[in-house]
Amino acid sequence: MTVKAEVQTFPLFINGQWQPASNEETFDVTNPATGQLVAKVAKGTVEDVDKAVQAAREAFDNTEWRNMSPKERANVLYNISYAIAESGEELAYLESVSSGATVRRISGNDILQMVDLFQTLAKFVLEYEFSETLPSPPFPGPAHNFIWREPIGVCAAITPWNLPMVIATWKIAPALAMGNTIVIKPASYTPLSTLKLAEIISQVVPPGVINVVTGAGGDVGEALIRHPQVDKVAFTGSTEVGRRVMELSAGTIKNTTLELGGKSPNIILEDADLSIALPGSLFGVFLHSGQLCESGTRLFVPDHLHDVIVEGLVNLASKIKPGNPLDPATDIGPVISKKQKESILSYIEAGKQEGATLVCGGREVKVPGCEEGHFIEPTIFTNVTNDMKIAREEIFGPVLSVIRYSDVDEAIKMANDTIYGLAAGVWTSDVNKAYEVARKLQAGVVWINDWHMLRNDAPFGGYKQSGIGREMGKHSLDAYTQVKHVHTSMVPELHRRNWYGLLFSE
Ligand code: NAP
Repeated sequence: MTVKAEVQTFPLFINGQWQPASNEETFDVTNPATGQLVAKVAKGTVEDVDKAVQAAREAFDNTEWRNMSPKERANVLYNISYAIAESGEELAYLESVSSGATVRRISGNDILQMVDLFQTLAKFVLEYEFSETLPSPPFPGPAHNFIWREPIGVCAAITPWNLPMVIATWKIAPALAMGNTIVIKPASYTPLSTLKLAEIISQVVPPGVINVVTGAGGDVGEALIRHPQVDKVAFTGSTEVGRRVMELSAGTIKNTTLELGGKSPNIILEDADLSIALPGSLFGVFLHSGQLCESGTRLFVPDHLHDVIVEGLVNLASKIKPGNPLDPATDIGPVISKKQKESILSYIEAGKQEGATLVCGGREVKVPGCEEGHFIEPTIFTNVTNDMKIAREEIFGPVLSVIRYSDVDEAIKMANDTIYGLAAGVWTSDVNKAYEVARKLQAGVVWINDWHMLRNDAPFGGYKQSGIGREMGKHSLDAYTQVKHVHTSMVPELHRRNWYGLLFSE
């Protein structure tokens, strides 16, 4: 893929139409691989947030959108999946030039994953128990009782820059599947693919069902969360901003789901097949230059295998090639920004200062043709202890900390000694041992002899400060509904309603 010469302009997407920000201001989106200006994007205001929420409100309250049958809704989801597949190339381009993700990964995984998500949820919608009939109660008298699952209403989705399109669909797909409407605030580094996605989806759904307001998190993000007409907030981002989102949601007691940061532990047991565990562990940490929330950034290795494992890791890591993400031969692209690059390099410096040993990488890389890009070498530290800054804080870059252990219980104890609980992994030839370890690991997903294996039919989310709630799978449909209990009395005679005697003595 080649970079398009012209700088594109992206207005806001509200009520099925493109429109400029109310103050007509824009902000720049630049390519993190080249530093070149890619697009000018509308800088939304609080007024624009209100417009988008009103459009979503109107579509929810006053159209037939929420009342569609499961079959009609499944058809909508299938049609969205076909529309995404048709626009895959353009979406992959917009995603790559703003996020720095390789087109090899976006086209080879993300687009397919998004298409499959809408199709998977379409199947789930057809089987979903929208109404459950309860048996007649023994007390206080005969009655007919239902539990209905209903859409929540207007949902606000706030998404991060690391996996913008896929994470947006983790919110859009279940929200629409259950009859909600949505307003999305994408990360300011990477709004392009989400805007395009909204345009694509709007060909299939009524105006107002999907809206995108771009602009700064502290302005439009906060306004969206505070808005009294928003019924649910679904946030993915850092734990720090997640805390703020929770505080703001509390103002109007909003249904809130949070997908936050991680510092995921990866344990190699002594009977692991190292020919798979080593490339697998590097796949787990260096994919997308380490900017994936579920990256396995702390690697626990048995004392007596430490040297052979480290030698193998360094050998493999040196083969991972940073390059222009639009080149299909590139293994890893840049990190998102100069600020992020400096933050990662300062963590690498902190690792050295605290006494860890840098055995691989650790420097900025200059990629020919991408001299203004923000590239960092795959970096490995050994002699890391679990109390060091590089083992405790989420670096969100290509940095692996190798930590020794003497027995498995010690490894599990260190693995769980973190505020996070998003993902974890274990490598072993003994499946019983694997389950025993998996049971003890405090994480929302545990991979055995693999990494990054998210499935659209399985829930994803965090334990501890990695979040609240789950995305994908049937659990995500529950997260976009609320339950209503409906009671119909079957006792028409007043004198048989003896429970009224709790109030009336005569
Ligand atoms: P971030 O700084 O927390 O930002 C996430 C989103 O929140 C962006 O759209 C941002 O807008 C917005 N925002 C910032 N301040 C806000 C505020 N005060 N009120 C409302 N919204 C606000 O996270 P990031 O740096 O984009 O993404 C990286 C983080 O996401 C990492 O911690 C990673 O682990 C986490 N993550 C978690 C998952 C998961 O599924 N658990 C998946 C992916 C990423 P602006 O861009 O305009 O600032």
